[in-house]
Amino acid sequence: MNYEIRPVLCGAYQENAYLLLPEGRGDMVVIDPGDDDPALARAVEASGRALGAILLTHGHFDHMLGAVKLMEETGVKAYIHPNDVELLCNPEINAYDSFCATRPNPERFDAEALGDSVAICGMNFRVLHTPGHTKGSVCFYDEENGILFSGDTLFHAGFGRIDMYGGSAKGMRASMRALFALPGDTRVYSGHGPATTIATERGRYYL
Ligand SMILES: [Zn+2]
Repeated sequence: MNYEIRPVLCGAYQENAYLLLPEGRGDMVVIDPGDDDPALARAVEASGRALGAILLTHGHFDHMLGAVKLMEETGVKAYIHPNDVELLCNPEINAYDSFCATRPNPERFDAEALGDSVAICGMNFRVLHTPGHTKGSVCFYDEENGILFSGDTLFHAGFGRIDMYGGSAKGMRASMRALFALPGDTRVYSGHGPATTIATERGRYYL
């Protein structure tokens, strides 16, 4: 299944929300809705499509706050790794920043647990558990099309912070090793910053 990837910059931390628009269908998926930026609402509306699901790479506020409103408005479900469920409603551990967040931290967030794979709106992803940034960080890997959504695990010329709640240098090293075993031409769409490839990033590190 081919699909268009539409990045939308959201919030003070410039998180990348991604709209995935599968060809020949009327629905779509959002990966990491960001910090409730109106830009996301505009992009969702402009797509003219029905939202099928929300996928979360991890539970930090700048990636998931926008999910709350989308879930209320559309009734769709959000999926997250079980290890990051504890972050969703706890601003003490989800990096919530009251100075720049556009809405209060959710008091209730009924997320579904991600398994090893996701089949949604005609698209298929393997869910790669990549702890290190948080305990429940995941990357969504589309093997057929050679596409990886890496959240805050792997960036263009960098990787996610390991000094926050649940962070682990050991975990990050193992996760990066696992990602660098993917085909070099895999395109990587990160939670912040520009897209890159596995070959470009693995050339930077000695792990
Ligand atoms: Zn994060």
